[in-house]
Amino acid sequence: MTDNSEARAAIDALRQISRNETYKACVQETPVLRRVLLRAVSRFIGGETFSECLQVASELHQRGIATAIDYMGESTRDRERAAMVTREFLRVIDTLADRGAAASISPDLSHLGMAIDPQLAYENAKVLAGAAREAGSEVILNMEGSDRTETILAIHRQLCERYDNVGVTLQAYLYRTENDLSEAIERGGRIRLVKGAYAEPPEVARPLGPTTDAVFATLMETLLASGRRSSIATHDPALLEHAYRFIEGRRLSREPIEFELNYGIAEDRLLRMQALGYGARVYLPYGEEWYLYLCHRLAEFPPNIYQALADAVSALPGVEQRNHR
Ligand SMILES: Cc1cc2nc3c(=O)[nH]c(=O)nc-3n(C[C@H](O)[C@H](O)[C@H](O)COP(=O)(O)OP(=O)(O)OC[C@H]3O[C@@H](n4cnc5c(N)ncnc54)[C@H](O)[C@@H]3O)c2cc1C
Repeated sequence: MTDNSEARAAIDALRQISRNETYKACVQETPVLRRVLLRAVSRFIGGETFSECLQVASELHQRGIATAIDYMGESTRDRERAAMVTREFLRVIDTLADRGAAASISPDLSHLGMAIDPQLAYENAKVLAGAAREAGSEVILNMEGSDRTETILAIHRQLCERYDNVGVTLQAYLYRTENDLSEAIERGGRIRLVKGAYAEPPEVARPLGPTTDAVFATLMETLLASGRRSSIATHDPALLEHAYRFIEGRRLSREPIEFELNYGIAEDRLLRMQALGYGARVYLPYGEEWYLYLCHRLAEFPPNIYQALADAVSALPGVEQRNHR
């Protein structure tokens, strides 16, 4: 996070446009814009296709890093598309199971049809949970904007009645999360704790920064002490250190605990946790719907905006050739 007011304005602007479907469509449909922004997002994703993602996943698995694979996208508006997305996730589960790979899947329920009908998303998620259980893997539901939290948690609750391999993500910045965490701890499934990535009104979420960091630390202690399967999903070095000291100080079992970072970000911090004997996982998204993901990754770390600019410019015709001379 930053105290710089220009950077804050850029963060707010990125968070505001991230969920705007008109801008998203404009990026997807304008070839030059799409090409330059694809270059910028490339360092954070496993590619636009499953075969590219498989290649990246295999390299990570060979280094002992597990993956949580997401066929990226959200707010699916038609049933056929939701069915296609579900089939794509099934392909991921089956292919990785055939390879004996340490991979779970991490979908947005709105990509599986929740915005059309929550029951449809539940049915699709149920298919994935069943396939993942047979494959010996997990489904970890991503958490979306706060207007969807209640529905996602209700679907998670329903899934947990039948499956013990379905986890959910909780966001420390939401005021409601303390209660949601106590309730989720009572259910099965891994709990992934994150700070939160969406633009939220002040009545539902704390500002990111020291206040949310302090709450994250408290929630993390509760989660770790519960002994539930957990994923501590932050790149924040102070919070990683805090987690380590808490686990070691309490002599907690390491078995149910994983540290999980986003692909392409602060991998050295994940490797350190791995070297200390903890499970290490990378959230690895792929697909063509990367617009929201790019906005989030730039907003959470403003220096990425400069990097993105350099990456994007290098994708313009003529620029690469000049660089290569
Ligand atoms: C595995 C995983 C799953 C997630 N799932 C969700 C979800 O379902 N819903 C949701 O709302 N959010 C999700 N998030 C995003 C999360 O909410 C935060 O927006 C994001 O992780 C940044 O917060 P941070 O905890 O890393 O702390 P920050 O305070 O943002 O960052 C701490 C430090 O980490 C490094 N860092 C952080 N982000 C970047 C970056 N983009 N590029 C380079 N360095 C960076 C920097 O060194 C920074 O100083 C997920 C994050 C992870 C890691």
